[in-house]
Amino acid sequence: METKKISKRCPLHIEKWKDVYCHTCEQAICLRCMFENHRHHDCTELDMAARRKREILRRLARAIVELLSKLNGRRDDLIDVKSRACNLAG
Ligand SMILES: [Zn+2]
Ligand SMILES: [Zn+2]
Repeated sequence: METKKISKRCPLHIEKWKDVYCHTCEQAICLRCMFENHRHHDCTELDMAARRKREILRRLARAIVELLSKLNGRRDDLIDVKSRACNLAG
C-alpha cells in the first residue's frame, strides 16, 4: 500500500519550504522559485493567506456568539417547548 504524503518542500529546491503562493500559477512555491521563475507574478506569503482566513473565522465566531446571546433570551421558552414535546412523546 502506498501512502501519499503532501510535501511542503519545494521539489526544485529541496532545502527550501514553500512559503509563497503564486496566484498567477495557482501554486505554492518557495522563495527561490519566486525570485527565479515568478518574479513578475502575483505572489503573496502563504502566512498572509492563512492569517486572512483566520481573521474571517474570528469574525464568524464573533457573529455566532452574538447570535447565541440573542437566542439566550429565548432559551427558556425553547427548553419549555422541548420538555413539553418530550412529555407528549413519552
Ligand atoms: Zn523552489
Ligand atoms: Zn508564478
